[in-house]
Parts: sequence; structure tokens; C-alpha cells
Amino acid sequence: MQTEQKIFSWGDNRPLYTYTRYIQNHFGERVQKLTVDAGLSCPHRTANRLAGGCTYCNNNAFNPSYCTPAKSVLQQLQEGITFHANRYRRANRYLAYFQAYTNTYAGVDKLRALFEEALACEGVTGLIIATRPDCLSDTVVEYLHELAQRTYLFIELGAESSHDITLERICRGHSALATEEAVVILRKAGIPLGLHLIWGLQGETPAMMLESLLWASRQDIQTVKFHQLQILRGAELEKEWTRRPEDFQLFTLDEYLEFLIPIVENLRPDIAIERICAEAPPKYLLAPNWGLIRNDEILRRFEKLLLERNTWQGRLCHPHSQLPQ
Ligand code: SF4
Repeated sequence: MQTEQKIFSWGDNRPLYTYTRYIQNHFGERVQKLTVDAGLSCPHRTANRLAGGCTYCNNNAFNPSYCTPAKSVLQQLQEGITFHANRYRRANRYLAYFQAYTNTYAGVDKLRALFEEALACEGVTGLIIATRPDCLSDTVVEYLHELAQRTYLFIELGAESSHDITLERICRGHSALATEEAVVILRKAGIPLGLHLIWGLQGETPAMMLESLLWASRQDIQTVKFHQLQILRGAELEKEWTRRPEDFQLFTLDEYLEFLIPIVENLRPDIAIERICAEAPPKYLLAPNWGLIRNDEILRRFEKLLLERNTWQGRLCHPHSQLPQ
């Protein structure tokens, strides 16, 4: 059977389980994510942790223009609704996405106030909260568990790699084991979650990256987000890259799409891929330069490549690596 005609376990004939399909499967309709900057910080950037945080991090590079903690959560959401309605087909329902920094890095009372303000916004049907694996205290998890009983709640965890040697090199400040433990804690609390992974970190070979993918695929997660390593202006990595560019093997776009084929072939088919690559505003992006191509076009190219190779997500995934349903 040709790949084009095949309906996959995720419910359509696209050769990978897209986030669009994941949302459709869950809500039965399109639901728009709206980014919010709640003004929280990151424990990894404060004085009692490694100075400066993760070497690749510049949070300003991924905040939309309407997002600033100078505005209330409600105002950001309302402006986000208008912003998206002007660019795309208007959605009926929205998810407030607390993206910048570490969105469980506060006391429960403060978090409650922020998240309840978002849920009170007309049309907002749930929350997506990005955080670190080592920033989930018992009281915060207890509150998140309570929240998940009454609304859609999804957690995004920065994992980045399964290799502790890499995590040390990029100053992540936690181990792969910490991520595994956070996944177990959140799933016990009944909360779905996704992991972020970065491809092309210094010192990582394609075999190491595949190991990270297989490791992620063994966790009880519902989505993944892939990012190619980018050198962002103002990030610590800018200095390292300027000093020793030979330490970096940044993907060209063609190399990256080729690299992703076995990655996706080995990913469990019930894990949705929220994004296959990162996008940073040109004013922040130093390298690699993929031109002005947008992420949706890159995804289209990648799907075309998978179809041409007559392959798909999970094709090489061993049945024993599937989680029990
Ligand atoms: S990437 Fe996340 S955890 Fe790392 S320094 Fe930046 S905000 Fe903190």
C-alpha cells in the first residue's frame, strides 16, 4: 500500500503524528495556543544556581510581540486572540501557554492567581505550562493535580538530551534521571506531558541523538518538541561559538531533514510531534541560517521526504517499546 493512502494509528494519512491531529483527537476541533509571559523567572538563573542558566537560552527570542509581563495575563490573552484572528482562521477555543522561563517557579498562591486569571479569559479552555524537571515541588504537583481534575492541563518539560555529559556541558543543571522522575510524578498526578529535545548539541554524535530519542520514546509522554541547536544573540553559547566555532556542527536544513528521518521512524507512534524545528526572529539568530523559510513550510518538506522514502513515524519502533494502554 502507498504511504499516501494509508490511515495511520493517529487517525490521518500524514506520515507523522502532528500536533494538529493530537489537538483534533483530544478536542474534536482546532484549539489555538496563546503564549503568555507571566513574568516568572528561572531557578537556574538565580544566584544560588549555576550562573547564567542554560548556555543556549535567550528567552526573548521566542516571545511573540504581544507578550510581556508588563501586561496582565488577561490582556496578553485578549491581544493574542486578536493577533491570531487577524493572521489565521479564528478559533473557538484557546489554550493559555505559559512559555517563558520556568512556570512552576513560584509559590502555589502566586501560580494559582496566574493560572486562574488565564482560565477566566473567555474562550480559554485549558493551560499549557512549560517548566524544568527539577522545579516540581510536592505542593506544586498537588495543585497541578487538582487543576488537572477540572481543566485541560498539559506540562512541557525541557529534557534536551538523555546524556548527562551533554547536560553538564550546556549547564542544564539537572540530570536525565531528574527528567525521568518528573515524568513519573506528573503521570501519577494524571497530567499529560511532553519533552523538549535539542538536536546538534556540542559533542553529540547522531548515534547519541538517536539514543536520546529512544530514551524519550520509552518515557510515558504524550508529545515531543524538537529543536535544532541555534546560536542566539545574547545567549552564553554565542561566546563559545565565537571563540571555537569548530566545536559546533550546526545542521543545514537539508542535513537536518535527513537526520530527522530515522529519529521519527524510531519514535513511538502514539507520541505527537509538536514541532520538528525551532524558529527564532532574525534579529536574535546568529546561526544556522536557513533563510526566511517558515516552520510550516519545513514541516511540509519533511512530510514530502517521508512520503518519497515510503516511511513514517514509528516504522522502526519496536513493539516492545510501546507503553501498555
Ligand atoms: S532554558 Fe529554561 S531552564 Fe534553562 S536557563 Fe533558560 S529558562 Fe532557565
